[in-house]
Amino acid sequence: MSQPSRITVVGAGHVGMITAQKCAEKELAEEIVLIDVLEGRPQGIALDLDQSAAVEGWGSRVVGTNDPAATAGSELVIMTAGKPRGPGMSRSDLLAVNGKIIADVARYVRERSPDATVIVVTNPLDPMTALMRAKLGFPARRVIGMAGVLDAARFSWFLAEKLAVGVADVDAMVLGAHGDSMVPLPRATTVNGVPVPELLDRPALEKLADRTKNGGAEIVNLLKTGSAFFAPASGSALMAKAILRDEKRLLPCTCFVNGEFGFEGVYVGVPAVLGRNGVERIVELSLDTEARIAMQKTVGAIQKDVDALRQLGLM
Ligand code: NAD
Repeated sequence: MSQPSRITVVGAGHVGMITAQKCAEKELAEEIVLIDVLEGRPQGIALDLDQSAAVEGWGSRVVGTNDPAATAGSELVIMTAGKPRGPGMSRSDLLAVNGKIIADVARYVRERSPDATVIVVTNPLDPMTALMRAKLGFPARRVIGMAGVLDAARFSWFLAEKLAVGVADVDAMVLGAHGDSMVPLPRATTVNGVPVPELLDRPALEKLADRTKNGGAEIVNLLKTGSAFFAPASGSALMAKAILRDEKRLLPCTCFVNGEFGFEGVYVGVPAVLGRNGVERIVELSLDTEARIAMQKTVGAIQKDVDALRQLGLM
């Protein structure tokens, strides 16, 4: 019997369980394997999700497990395992604890799913994606970070509210690190083709860009424990669909740049076309001076985290 098409979602926490649900609802694979180190948690969530299929009518099967052997031959792995931050923490405070989790998971993904494309969600996103790639040794096009889709979704939502337009018409672009140094790009952000600088003045746009940069912290402070999970899961499932269905979507993703935007050998958020081969190409926008300086700063912040990983002996 041939093996079913398989996606693995690592981590059955807030982001992982909803990502698994969205992948199952979209029927992105015959089997969605949800794996966690907690005994019972992935099994319980899988059972609950499979029972919801009886009502919803989708045909994927969700399998909960603690055994890496069940993930073998996955076409796509979505890595959500790791600690989220709490109030007052920066994402970089998670480097050591989540770095070790990335290294553990990479060991069995490399061995059991050598042809997989891997989407990293674990924070701090940019250095964790770089670490995952280093540990896997896969081609860079098959190891991609999810952050830009979420950050752009936040910018879109704030713009839609401010302009009183439907959020479906807002198309935002946010580049750079998944942190306060991220680079929202109003010039590349439109409402159904109309550039937002024609609809809002600069101070109003800057205010919304700042709220976007602090969008994760705003939710962390409201929740008190844990961080956002619905929109992050939506972003992860969108990227999964773009890859598995070969949609060639142009999305902001954390990719390995090799000269693009003037940077060499670093993972950073850039516009990329996602399809069957993972990152099919990076799309180089022309940036004004302000955005170029902001990109230099954001790459500097990522490199600092990567250096910290090296000092910790993790990379
Ligand atoms: P959570 O605490 O709800 O879930 C994390 C899960 O990972 C837990 O169930 C835990 O048992 C599991 N886990 C720990 N070590 C594991 C291992 N070695 N193998 C398998 N599972 C393991 O956290 P969450 O809210 O789901 O967030 C998960 C991660 O995603 C955090 O690092 C968070 O910061 C990050 N995140 C990233 C973005 C983004 O835009 N990239 C957005 C939201 C959250």
